[in-house]
Amino acid sequence: AGDQALSKTGRLLIDTFGKENCYRYGGDEFLVIVPDLSEEEFKKELSAVLNNRPVLETGGQKVTVEYSVGSVHAVLDGTKELRDLFLEADQNMYTAKRERARAGIRTAEQRKRAEQNKTPVSTAEYTGEEMKAFLSSVSEEYDLIRVVDPIECRVLSVQNDGKISRKERCYGIWNSDQKCINCTSALACQTGRHQEKAEAFGGKVYHILSNPVRLKLPDGGSCDAVVEMVNVENEAQNKVQANDRAAESASPQTALYHAQNDSLTKVLHSGAFSEIAGELILKHPATGWVMITSNILNFRLVNTLFGVQRGNEVVARNAELLQQIAKPVDGLCGRLGGDQFALFLPRDKYREEQLLDIAQKMAHEFSSGLYTLCVHFGVYEVEDPSVPVSVMCDRANIALRTIHGDMRSTIAYFNAEMMQKSLLEQQVISGFETALKEEQFKMYLQPLVYEDGQVFGAEALVRWLRPDGSVTMPGEFIETLERAGLIHKLDRYIWECAVKQLSAWSGTEKQHLVISVNMSAKDLYSLDIYDILTELVDRYRVPASRLMLEITETAFLEDPLQSNAVIAKLREKGFLVEMDDFGEGYSSLGLLKDIHVDALKIDKSLLHEVETRQRSWIILESIVRMANELRMGVVTEGVETQAQLNSLIAVGCHYFQGYYFSRPIPVEEFEARLDAAEQLSAKEFLRPTE
Ligand code: C2E
Ligand code: CA
Ligand code: CA
Repeated sequence: AGDQALSKTGRLLIDTFGKENCYRYGGDEFLVIVPDLSEEEFKKELSAVLNNRPVLETGGQKVTVEYSVGSVHAVLDGTKELRDLFLEADQNMYTAKRERARAGIRTAEQRKRAEQNKTPVSTAEYTGEEMKAFLSSVSEEYDLIRVVDPIECRVLSVQNDGKISRKERCYGIWNSDQKCINCTSALACQTGRHQEKAEAFGGKVYHILSNPVRLKLPDGGSCDAVVEMVNVENEAQNKVQANDRAAESASPQTALYHAQNDSLTKVLHSGAFSEIAGELILKHPATGWVMITSNILNFRLVNTLFGVQRGNEVVARNAELLQQIAKPVDGLCGRLGGDQFALFLPRDKYREEQLLDIAQKMAHEFSSGLYTLCVHFGVYEVEDPSVPVSVMCDRANIALRTIHGDMRSTIAYFNAEMMQKSLLEQQVISGFETALKEEQFKMYLQPLVYEDGQVFGAEALVRWLRPDGSVTMPGEFIETLERAGLIHKLDRYIWECAVKQLSAWSGTEKQHLVISVNMSAKDLYSLDIYDILTELVDRYRVPASRLMLEITETAFLEDPLQSNAVIAKLREKGFLVEMDDFGEGYSSLGLLKDIHVDALKIDKSLLHEVETRQRSWIILESIVRMANELRMGVVTEGVETQAQLNSLIAVGCHYFQGYYFSRPIPVEEFEARLDAAEQLSAKEFLRPTE
């Protein structure tokens, strides 16, 4: 039937516009270039085409072919090239397509057919067979149709015997990062009415229409469900085409090449990649596939440390190596954006060694003393070829994310456990707002101490106290919240807890204590931290110098100039600023000459490495010495033993934090211990308690 549609379309175009003016440029897309025709005349011919759309006979059904048309009328007077016109017309076609999807424009036949089939209305009952018939009757109008159990949020499939089976999670289709709680299917179920919305994901926009229905089961029972009808439009591809037009004017390549390929790397854009991968799956139903995504660990640092030019070189080379894998086996290579690529390969042609080889080559070619370049891969061995390509990419990405930050691993394979983990992440995200409102997040304090054992303050560390009495540690939710763009809410909440606490201590013997709070790297760039913090200390009448701000070392690297400006302003107001996690990642000692902070906090990992690596000790020692010379305070965190403490004191470190003194504890306990220590001696507080 597909072939029929194409050949009849070709015939129709040729009959209308003449053979010499018609082209097929791939898949189901046609191009017509008609010279010497006024806009009026063209419109007339076009409407003749649209009125004579071919009717296909397939499986006893008659189906009329539908078209989206974009056109442009111009005189080639030297200001524009043919390619520009092509791209403009192509844009217009996408606009037409989008508008159609949005307005739900239907042709007379479509409307008639929909009426005959009766679009399901609230709680309309369907047997399995009727449901199947309904789905197939609307199947050409939508890119994707599915039946969903809105309560369990699972896709339902209707078996031949009318029984229902539950498949994957419903939201997975368009957005694995989004919890399904308010999805259209849940809303449709609650209200019993049609629900409509659009969601953007992976460069695509999904127009979703949900209809509540009731399915009659063979055993006489019934099951509430929602039919979801989705139209997908490819926004990323539109944008990229527009960019290409601006950026590349004098290239010998064809317009189509530019429409599909990335100008820097010469591999497919994400839109074209998904589309062609989808076509490959349909064309070769017997082939098994793997979806691989790759990215570069801390790629932004390449741009920061070595410049954008170098960054481009890295990306281009990476693409070249990936393409060398894809090409010979008729696979696909696409650029999903930035340093992210995807490979789509026949499963039996996939060789793990090839990926390892790329990682090794890239590390070899681009690492320097400052920076080790790590390429990571996530691999999804496609089990269900009917899931959308974007979901395959998602799954590969879920695997990819599990290696994030690990310099030693290169490849991760998607598995059920990861799916589980990603579900847990969804739970963190969906439970977050309520938890915040219900004050389930609590500030714990871990003492900061002088070498003589006196407590001079504490670091505020958050704990999530669940209603069921369990405690969730920050390691299990901070990163997720960062990725979801929610961390700033938690941070502001904890900052306020800290400032409130300082205010409660003022006028008591604890008023000299400092509280240091963590600041996510994201806060630095997304919040006006100066205004927020200033407002807080003013409102609670707390001297700014009682609050210390811990900003991670890598946050400074992202944009040293901007962070420097913010930090200067904060310090001027009197806040103390500390560079956190120093020595954990890419510490460049050079950074210290440009960025002025009050203190460094040496990361516990460096201290813990000392035991096994002599080099670490030398590094630690020189950091302490240099910080002292630059008149910065140095706090070493993660002190667990008396021996560690002694060595640190010997090299000139004066401030400490660690389990040796105390774990992070609730505020009341912190206060109680301080009060007790006051009466005993400071040292008592510090006696290891665990
Ligand atoms: P961090 O800023 O490096 O905080 C120090 C972490 O080391 C804390 O883990 C602390 O419990 C732990 N630690 C302290 N002394 C020792 C020791 O002697 N040995 C060992 N092995 N560990 C020690 P925690 O509380 O689980 O926090 C983990 C991370 O979560 C923090 O690392 C910080 O990056 C983040 N975090 C915690 N609270 C917040 C917050 O309110 N906002 C933001 N943005 N991040 C937070
Ligand atoms: Ca910290
Ligand atoms: Ca740290």
